[in-house]
Amino acid sequence: MSEKKIKHVLGLSGGKDSAALAVYMRDHYPELEIDYFFTDTGKELPEVEDYLNKLEAYLGKPIERLGANQDFDYWLNEYNHFLPSGHQRWCTVQMKLVPFENWIKPYLNEGYEIISYVGIRADEPWREGYIPTQKYLSIKMPFADDGLVKADILEILEGTGLGLPKYYEWRSRSGCTFCFYQRKIEWVRLKERHPEAFEEAKAYEKQFQDEKSTNGETYYWMGKDTPLSTLDDPERIAQIEADHAEKVKRFKKKRRRKEVYDDELIEMIDLDAIYDDVEGGGACVTCYK
Ligand code: SF4
Repeated sequence: MSEKKIKHVLGLSGGKDSAALAVYMRDHYPELEIDYFFTDTGKELPEVEDYLNKLEAYLGKPIERLGANQDFDYWLNEYNHFLPSGHQRWCTVQMKLVPFENWIKPYLNEGYEIISYVGIRADEPWREGYIPTQKYLSIKMPFADDGLVKADILEILEGTGLGLPKYYEWRSRSGCTFCFYQRKIEWVRLKERHPEAFEEAKAYEKQFQDEKSTNGETYYWMGKDTPLSTLDDPERIAQIEADHAEKVKRFKKKRRRKEVYDDELIEMIDLDAIYDDVEGGGACVTCYK
């Protein structure tokens, strides 16, 4: 019986873990011919695009952009202007999962087995979330299997000279510019760093209200009762900044009490731990890894 042909694929999210995994695979498993891909929603941060271009140059291989023909605006219209949310996460399905499935389908039809490499680390609990839905598609987590943790990932990226994607200066994750999983502090920073994108996000909220004005429904990125326009108030922004600073302070104190000094604290990367997942938790692993 002939062996099945194998296609190795690795999805880049624009985040640090998948980028480090691409580097790690190239250096540790050079015998594998890996195809890289990125699912482009059409609403990516410029920092993500910059980083992917640099990574592409470093890897010496193209990163295929999937799904750009039917972008966020197309799907928003299809979903009757309902912004995506934790309950209705059509964005991940339509702009991340379906383009990936469409991309691998011809290979599956040709009899390939697909192995998809994912940047889940040994210090993360998300293994169970990655159960493939298709026969002949399997998931491998080399970082988790080889025992690599956050510090190793940072070291890999430092070693390449790529460093971290620039958005980590102000935001905790890659993913869409308007992702509803952002915390308030990240919306504040989006407004500071990319005011035009912030205004665009506000316009999407208004568009929803205009379309739905007959029954008075409201929906906002930050939650049902909190329009982005609330961040036009300098006092509100000052409050969010102060709350955030306090959370960071408390988190640092807790670490000192536990004598955790062996792992560098990078404020935005460690935002989940700092916020203890109170706000913005359960974020999208598919988009951010
Ligand atoms: S990054 Fe956020 S908005 Fe974008 S697809 Fe993922 S969950 Fe949806």
